[in-house]
Amino acid sequence: MSDLCITIKSIRTIKGVIEVRIFSCETHINHALDMFVAEQKTFPMLEELKEEEKLSTVCSYCENFALYIVANEN
Ligand SMILES: [Zn+2]
Repeated sequence: MSDLCITIKSIRTIKGVIEVRIFSCETHINHALDMFVAEQKTFPMLEELKEEEKLSTVCSYCENFALYIVANEN
């Protein structure tokens, strides 16, 4: 749990709403979902990355390319 803050790739605040986006490979998707729920106390949206994003986005938990993005609704 102590490394939670560095596993969330990008957080920005717009009018008090915090946007959380966690990138994950196939291996870490369950972990990413667990981390999101533990931190945000709500269920995330799970989306597949677009083809061009897959090749430029790395998993938040390892060195593999990310396949999914876990984000809160907005
Ligand atoms: Zn991974």
